Amino acid sequence: MSDVASVAGWIAAAGHVTVLTGAGISTDSGIPDYRGPNGVWTKDPAAERQATIDAWVSDPDLRRDAWQFRVGNRGRRIEPNDGHRALVELERLGRLDVLITQNVDGLHLEAGHEPHRVIEVHGTIREVQCLRCGDRQPTSVVLDRVAEGEVDPHCLDCGGLLKSGTISFGQSLNPVDIEGADEAARSTDVFLALGTSLAVYPVALLPQYAAASGARVVIINAEPTAQDSLAHVVINDGLGAVLPALVAEVEVRLA
Ligand code: ZN
Repeated sequence: MSDVASVAGWIAAAGHVTVLTGAGISTDSGIPDYRGPNGVWTKDPAAERQATIDAWVSDPDLRRDAWQFRVGNRGRRIEPNDGHRALVELERLGRLDVLITQNVDGLHLEAGHEPHRVIEVHGTIREVQCLRCGDRQPTSVVLDRVAEGEVDPHCLDCGGLLKSGTISFGQSLNPVDIEGADEAARSTDVFLALGTSLAVYPVALLPQYAAASGARVVIINAEPTAQDSLAHVVINDGLGAVLPALVAEVEVRLA
């Protein structure tokens, strides 16, 4: 039996399935990764500085450039791809309980998951947060203000500094999200790690928790990962091809 067929059998028989995704699921949507050889931060260290909380808070020029850049990129439409859509289908089949993602692009939610199943552990670029009062609002609302001439927009309620709703370097992850992700990993029958190098903590602990709790751990990634040794199956391939085939196989088994 092929690896895909084995994994499909486990998923079809599972009472609980937890999925973790990383940058690899969004590359087919034209979003580059950040730390790879051709990554955004590897090629442009200034871009990494924009994602560092101390620099964001202390440097108005950096904020102005970042907001202008985002207004300039507004027309660039980024769509979910076949990998995202396959996971929505898996949810529709009743075989995806929790989807944890390291991605901030919002594409899983746009693809159509039930929002309560999705944990965006590194936040989302689709929202802007106030660093003082914590208020969150759609990014488009703030970009409208920038487009109308506000170079360094602040919170209209409290005057606090605004920042993308992502977790910057130097910021803590949301404890509720981390607790939810830990719980989903510890209580699952099958744990799928998709398109992530599993090198960034604490997310890299999740497959370890799942394996320690007796779950089948499956890693699908273009390249080897830091956690391959604990997986029951490792598939080194692109997600845009593997995921639709895998989910189709699950559907056959459930029919
Ligand atoms: Zn505020």
